[in-house]
Amino acid sequence: MAVVYIGLGSNLGDRSKNLNRALGHITSFLPAKLLKKSTVIETDPVDHQDQPRFLNQVAVIETALPPHELLKALQQAEKELGRKKTFPKGPRGIDLDILLYDGIILNAKDLTIPHPEIKNREFILRHLVELDPALADPVTGTRYGDMIKSTN
Ligand code: AMP
Repeated sequence: MAVVYIGLGSNLGDRSKNLNRALGHITSFLPAKLLKKSTVIETDPVDHQDQPRFLNQVAVIETALPPHELLKALQQAEKELGRKKTFPKGPRGIDLDILLYDGIILNAKDLTIPHPEIKNREFILRHLVELDPALADPVTGTRYGDMIKSTN
């Protein structure tokens, strides 16, 4: 079994309901168990700033799905939950990202783990520290908590 950190984001429709529906979908339709979830925070859009604010959350799940199968299942979940395709980095009903998968490092064409945006987005760092204060970046071994301090 792998322990996986999933990033959830929504900035269209009933954002809070979208996050809860996504968590429900993951635990009901995937071979996955929800271990923990972070608080929900509201964030400003990062890439295209001319769009509504996001609600973001991080969930920790346990699953037997290998990384690519998990990615496929999450993309299917986005579709079934009605993620509207707008444009890359644009508004979305629900966005699901694999942030960390055990301690693995993966650089495939369609899947990068740890997720490259972790270190650029302070709200993700804060969520990871909230869930596990000792959690460290598998690439550098630096604790995520220390990465927050170093960006301030
Ligand atoms: P987005 O539109 O932001 O959800 O980006 C989705 C694209 O990012 C997909 O084509 C994925 O193959 C790719 N991707 C690369 N690494 C990851 C990851 N760790 N989690 C989710 N999607 C990823």
